[in-house]
Amino acid sequence: MSWMKKIVIASRNPGKIAEFRQLLAELPLEVLSLLDFPEIPEILESGLTFRENALLKARTVTSYTGLTALADDSGLEVDYLGGAPGVYSARYAGPECDDAANNQKLLAELAGVPLEKRTARFRCVIAITTPRGEEFFCEGVCEGKIGYTPRGESGFGYDPLFIVPALGKTFAELGPEVKNRISHRAQAMRLAREILERLVGTNGEGKKDANRGPE
Ligand code: IMP
Repeated sequence: MSWMKKIVIASRNPGKIAEFRQLLAELPLEVLSLLDFPEIPEILESGLTFRENALLKARTVTSYTGLTALADDSGLEVDYLGGAPGVYSARYAGPECDDAANNQKLLAELAGVPLEKRTARFRCVIAITTPRGEEFFCEGVCEGKIGYTPRGESGFGYDPLFIVPALGKTFAELGPEVKNRISHRAQAMRLAREILERLVGTNGEGKKDANRGPE
């Protein structure tokens, strides 16, 4: 058995924890989450990039628990808006706002902008930190366009506005099965699993070149 027997998912969101559990199911790892460590305080996402935020969360969890940690950060980048809402995706319309308010604000900011200029992408960065001080990153990107009105019922966040051009449908119309195959998060997760497989399999002697992603 390798030195690495446990990993902590840096999240209290049951949906996200379940997704990561599924991804890691075949690895010989006990998967814990922040729900197992209620004493760890809320981690402020104060970074200016997804990478900074993911690293901040993973590092904090490793330093509190002494265990390997995995954290993700994601959001929507709209080209016409210079990459906004980016790391502020969850609170675009204000700190207390909901998905509907964020989508309304996005539509208002893009009023009158033609389809060819409504290009956007979802980006997800995952950081993995080990108690030996190693840090790994992987990234997934899904390209699309912002529609003119919300379409579809499934998903969350900006899904009803995010059109995947090759399929002509929004994430919310495609449903979880298709979305979870092609999404930014699914791509980053697949790369994260490769890194963890190597860490488990090589007795923790993972190298920095395990960093993966489209850069
Ligand atoms: P977080 O990475 O869970 O903090 O997500 C940040 C925010 O980005 C979410 O609250 C959503 O507004 C947006 N977001 C991230 N991933 C998705 C997605 O797959 N669909 C729709 N919105 C997303």
